[in-house]
Amino acid sequence: MATTRLLLTFAIYRLIVTVGLTVEPTELLRLGVGGQLSVDPADMETASLDFGMMSRTEPLAVFHPASAEDIARLIRAAYGSARGFTVSARGHGHSINGQAQAAKGVVIEMSGSRGRQLGLGKPALPRVSEEESYVDVWGGELWIDVLRATLEHGLAPKSWTDYLYLSVGGTLSNAGISGQAFNHGPQISNVYELDVVTGKGELLTCSEKQNSALFHAVLGGLGQFGIITRARIPLERSPQRVRWIRALYSNFSAFTKDQEFLISLHAHPAAQKFDYVEGFVIVDDGLINNWRSSFFSPRNPVKITSFNANGGVLYCLEVTKNYDDSSAARIDQEIEALLEKLDFIPTSVFTTDLPYVDFLDRVHKNELKLRSKGLWDVPHPWLNLFVPKSSIADFDNGVFKGILGNKTSGPILIYPMNRDKWDQRTSVVTPDEDVFYLVAFLRSALDNGDETQKLEYLTQQNRRILKFCEDAGIRMKQYLPHHTAQQDWVDHFGDKWERFHHKKLEFDPRRILATGQRIFNPSFTTQLASTW
Ligand code: FAD
Repeated sequence: MATTRLLLTFAIYRLIVTVGLTVEPTELLRLGVGGQLSVDPADMETASLDFGMMSRTEPLAVFHPASAEDIARLIRAAYGSARGFTVSARGHGHSINGQAQAAKGVVIEMSGSRGRQLGLGKPALPRVSEEESYVDVWGGELWIDVLRATLEHGLAPKSWTDYLYLSVGGTLSNAGISGQAFNHGPQISNVYELDVVTGKGELLTCSEKQNSALFHAVLGGLGQFGIITRARIPLERSPQRVRWIRALYSNFSAFTKDQEFLISLHAHPAAQKFDYVEGFVIVDDGLINNWRSSFFSPRNPVKITSFNANGGVLYCLEVTKNYDDSSAARIDQEIEALLEKLDFIPTSVFTTDLPYVDFLDRVHKNELKLRSKGLWDVPHPWLNLFVPKSSIADFDNGVFKGILGNKTSGPILIYPMNRDKWDQRTSVVTPDEDVFYLVAFLRSALDNGDETQKLEYLTQQNRRILKFCEDAGIRMKQYLPHHTAQQDWVDHFGDKWERFHHKKLEFDPRRILATGQRIFNPSFTTQLASTW
């Protein structure tokens, strides 16, 4: 206990000396009581890194909140301090480029131990309303825990990410997408209400009807306007099981035509559409058994060469249909009726059947496998793009069949979404077409592999892909965007930039929040910090 206090006093001393706080030291000490403010080396190390493992910024201290009020007090201290300090919420640190890091500031650990190891109370657990079909969750809650809590009531959220060890606040600050998005929209289209601590330290409830400007700004807002401390998420009755189907294509236009047809069915009754539509690109033989496609093996070993891939590239459609006891008798027929309208390679359909929760949590199994081989904590030069439908064939020719050169270092996802399921009042930006594709290059860099697996090679390849889009006039947008110059952010937001900027001035006037996104400089620096 004495050591903890000593460390805390040191942390606070550092804050006072470094940033010239005008708040009473006792006020800040109160934040530290019980160990909430920490400079513990393990905490500092965690907060300095992220899943991307490509940037490292050590904060001044790490904060473990026990409530939204704690966060409001910390931000009021930052907002009111003479020279200021930055504050970044860290969900589960699954960003790629340091977006949750805080140079010259404090990182708020929203998930993980969040005080448990320090003997503090935890923010409230998910609270389900069965009558009104929603769940109230802490902003740092992981989606896997949201799922577990709602399943106890036979309910579940409607829109997901492929991987559930992400925080609610983290995905809502981006969009939160998976194969359900064509039908239900992204996760940011599935929120009733939020509690948010703004950059001035005000704790506000917001929704469509209450403080709506803040509500829309925060959704997809890259953490720029406030810290989400609570979200109210609508629920549906949870299905029991999932029929999971994959089918291969060697012809890209047949593949995209079928994907687009399937997402066009979104307004049809449940029996006449799939519940999830995704897909991926297979550019080399090894990949068919990669970390996302263990599906094919060991019971269904697949050799790409047996499918006569055109130019060495195959495309895999991935769809699911949810069901339970009441609909089990009809499921085969419903699936058959949908599959017969599609144009995949006839012998290439693979089907599996599993509990709903196992399907939603599918990527975690692969995470455990990779961890056991030491292949999870490696650099991840990921690139996620929203490509307009009108350019997707050019993208295929130039990138999948061109730049990649039959080599990749991780899964490449590709699936279309309907833009009218995205609320244009939110901060997220998408291409300006009714249908656009997510193309996600989910790479892992290895030091001991061949040249094409090295970080430098993959980073360079990402640059070539971006340059190709620019030269070919492909009006794509980055998802989970990463830009380092303000003009690139202005271009990214396009028509939305002025509103985005204006809301920043309103809700975070000192620009202290989420500086790891590198969109705005805090008011107390004149240039980008050296670590940027
Ligand atoms: P962090 O990385 O901790 O934070 C991201 C940003 O949000 C930071 O700027 C941070 O300051 C801010 N932030 C965090 N919490 C809050 C809060 N409570 N309030 C306000 N701002 C906050 N995304 C998809 O859409 N679909 C997928 O299928 C998908 N799969 C993924 C699979 C893996 C293995 C990984 C690593 C990522 C995946 N992602 C996916 C990306 C994911 O959505 C982002 O990494 C996102 O940032 C969520 O991660 P996080 O909760 O760890 O947030």
